[in-house]
Amino acid sequence: MKLDILFFAAHPDDVEVVAGGIILKHLALGKKVGIIDFTCGELGTRGNAEIRIIEATMASSILGLSYRANLNFADCFFEVSKPNIMKVVECIRKHQPEIVITNPEIDRHPDHVRASKIVKEAVFISGLEKVTTLNEYGEKQIPWKPNSLLYYIQDTYIEPNLYFDITPFYETKVKAFKAYKSQFFDPESNEPETIISTPEFFRRVEARNIEFGRRIGVKYAEGLVREKAIGIHSLFDVI
Ligand SMILES: [Zn+2]
Repeated sequence: MKLDILFFAAHPDDVEVVAGGIILKHLALGKKVGIIDFTCGELGTRGNAEIRIIEATMASSILGLSYRANLNFADCFFEVSKPNIMKVVECIRKHQPEIVITNPEIDRHPDHVRASKIVKEAVFISGLEKVTTLNEYGEKQIPWKPNSLLYYIQDTYIEPNLYFDITPFYETKVKAFKAYKSQFFDPESNEPETIISTPEFFRRVEARNIEFGRRIGVKYAEGLVREKAIGIHSLFDVI
């Protein structure tokens, strides 16, 4: 399926927490948006692979995602290797997205940083004529160079250079990431507490969306980072 925006994530739930509103906004604009998760998050302290996949399916349906897949890389142990980069190149060539968005280059979680490196290399290699990949039918894929590579912002604070008003979508975004019931605050859970399973985590997500919103004069916003300079078609595009 041809996608307009393709997100990559080290773990299911990475994208929903920090960019769920951006997804909802672009789906509402009629764009096709997909997420490809690298792992099932099977080494997370709470939940397990089966639960995480069920939760990801629920979150996808709340968002109304156009596409979701999982590459089944090993949680915590996948490497920035040629086979993994080539799998991501195959995904990019298969879905031909204009925009690729992935984990941040700097973060507390090493999986996020490695995922980011894999995607950055794959975006570059995907455009190279002389690198051959095959699709699931054994046919040669055509090279594809996305227009934009963007990064979302997770635990480690990074100053965004793109802000999106997500105010009309905020409640649905929260509903989508709360679908990962095993990961976040659940008063009925007996599993060990983690830094994201406390009630304060929800308040932190909200506080960040409010803070980003304040900078552009709206109630809630999400932020992204673009390495390359940002061009605009018209001064009226700026809010
Ligand atoms: Zn993660």
